[in-house]
Amino acid sequence: MDAAPHKISQSRLPFRAAAFVALVCVAILGMSAAREWSAREAALKGTEVELANLSRSLTQQADDSFDLLDASIVGAVSRLETDGTNPATLSKLQDILVARKVALKRVNGLAIVDEHGDWLASSGVMGKSLSDREYFRHHLQSTDRAVFMGHPVKSSMNDEWVVTLSRRFNHPDGSFAGIVIASIGSAYFSDFYRQFDIGESGTLSLLSTDGIIMARRPDDDTSAGRNVSDGAFFKAVRAGGLSGVHLLKSNLDGLERIGFHQQSSRYPFVILATKTQYEALAPWRHATITRMMFVLGLVLLIAVMGLYVVRQLVRGQRMTSALASKEANFRVVAEGSSDMVTRIGLDETIHYASPSSVRIVGWPPDQLVGTPALAGVNPLDLPRVQEVVAALKRGEAEETRITYRTRQRERSEIWVESTLRVTRNSGEIDGVVAITRDVTQQKTLEGKLETLATVDGLTGLANRRRFDERLLEEWGRAYRERTSLSLLMIDLDHFKAYNDQYGHPAGDECLRAVAGVLATEAKRTTDLAARYGGEEFAMLLPNTDAAGCARIGERVLREIRDLGIAHKLNFPSRIVTASIGGAVCRPGVERSAGHASLVEAADHALYAAKDHGRDQLVMAKPAARKLEVMSAAH
Ligand code: GH3
Ligand code: MG
Ligand code: MG
Repeated sequence: MDAAPHKISQSRLPFRAAAFVALVCVAILGMSAAREWSAREAALKGTEVELANLSRSLTQQADDSFDLLDASIVGAVSRLETDGTNPATLSKLQDILVARKVALKRVNGLAIVDEHGDWLASSGVMGKSLSDREYFRHHLQSTDRAVFMGHPVKSSMNDEWVVTLSRRFNHPDGSFAGIVIASIGSAYFSDFYRQFDIGESGTLSLLSTDGIIMARRPDDDTSAGRNVSDGAFFKAVRAGGLSGVHLLKSNLDGLERIGFHQQSSRYPFVILATKTQYEALAPWRHATITRMMFVLGLVLLIAVMGLYVVRQLVRGQRMTSALASKEANFRVVAEGSSDMVTRIGLDETIHYASPSSVRIVGWPPDQLVGTPALAGVNPLDLPRVQEVVAALKRGEAEETRITYRTRQRERSEIWVESTLRVTRNSGEIDGVVAITRDVTQQKTLEGKLETLATVDGLTGLANRRRFDERLLEEWGRAYRERTSLSLLMIDLDHFKAYNDQYGHPAGDECLRAVAGVLATEAKRTTDLAARYGGEEFAMLLPNTDAAGCARIGERVLREIRDLGIAHKLNFPSRIVTASIGGAVCRPGVERSAGHASLVEAADHALYAAKDHGRDQLVMAKPAARKLEVMSAAH
């Protein structure tokens, strides 16, 4: 009943194993991917932090640089407003400006111009009027005394890109008197930024808040003064408040970049540090490739091993079902057979018996299974059967056939013929299959045939064939054992006449009576009385000497007479009589011409008995010379 679900679950086993392996592989890959993704996020976050720190430091550095410049400007403004622009003051200030430029490397130039833009003093050479400059116009128009930071411009003194800081100074009445300007070279910042290791793709920019590049690393000649206010990055910067992170495509090199901007709180500039995402993720990428290779290798290994296991499972299932169908075929054959089929294990118990067991041994299969297979075998046949089974178990033969007697439930004992064949499991002998049939009838017939072949039908004595066989055997034995072998040939007297007188059936009856006498006289088990042919009999007497032979011959003569069967035509006694020729030999001791010579000698003696008047025994003369005598004569 529950075999069906079991079968289904078994057939799904490889599928489930495959699904499990796939799940394990997917889980490992999924977990690794998730881990790598979070590692990537961490790498990006680290880059953001790095860029933020860098931007803040550089903003601080730029602020400080501008503060330093502004301090010089403030000093000059205060001096000009106190002492005016007389030549003595200007000359002093000129010295101070020169000294400052020498002291502060970052200072590109310091200058004082009057309300028309004409130079009053300078740390370097005086140039042409600055009245057209942006910062000059700013101060001219605005009374604001705060420091003004101009856009990057090309220095009128040395043609370099500079950033200017300027303040206005007033006449005592408060009207515009001129400006003090200090400039710092764009190269100063670029050189400073070059010291930082921010990778090959990293950029550091100092920008005015309206998007004009003041300094940049890496710098080329075109960087400074360029307006990037339309670029995506700068738009993001402007929208991002004082500081912020950006992830954008650069309009300069088209690469995906991470950027951080920091705006100064004191001056109108912004520091922007960026790095390509590709470079930021490079260490992560290298580690990930190594790790993923390892994970993929592992997954591949699991998949291959899983595949192998699944294949083994499929193969196992196929083998099981093949085995089951084989087993089913075996049962069909076994159960349809009229012979009894049994499976015997190595422990010699019955593991299976087909239904025919009821017909053969009288027991149903369920009562035979588990019992010793050789239990019912006749003790006389048991050693032979055991030997055959042992030889099969030792692998000396694949198949043998054996006939033996065994117990039967109703008929006490039957003859059976078993064909035994070894069975193997993975090459190892695991038992024997026996096909057993009842051969009792055959055996009985065989026995009858054997009797027919050796027994004379009329008298029940051994027939001529049997006599010849025994003569040969006994001759051989006498030869080996150097014993005497005697033979009596017995022929009824005038038996033709008896038949004629009393009829053939009476003749047969007479023959049977004489045979009875002979059978009685063959007392020892080795003695043999046989019908030699017609009304002629023979008695083979092993281990009997001449005297013994003669004694038995005389007794036979007497007993035939004693039968007293009337025979009118047999003179003088008028009863049935016989003539007997006797012969003795010792084949191991005498020179003789073999077993035929013994018959010949007895025959000759029989003729002699007939010649001498019948109803008598004549013993053949002993052989002419004994072997011992021959050897003694030499
Ligand atoms: P002798 O004294 O010389 O032996 O004379 P005999 O008549 O016995 O001669 P022989 O031995 O040659 O005769 C054999 C006779 O025995 C011939 C046959 O009629 C008879 N005979 C042979 N076999 C049987 C038999 O099976 N049954 C009967 N009733 N007679 C047989
Ligand atoms: Mg005869
Ligand atoms: Mg005769």
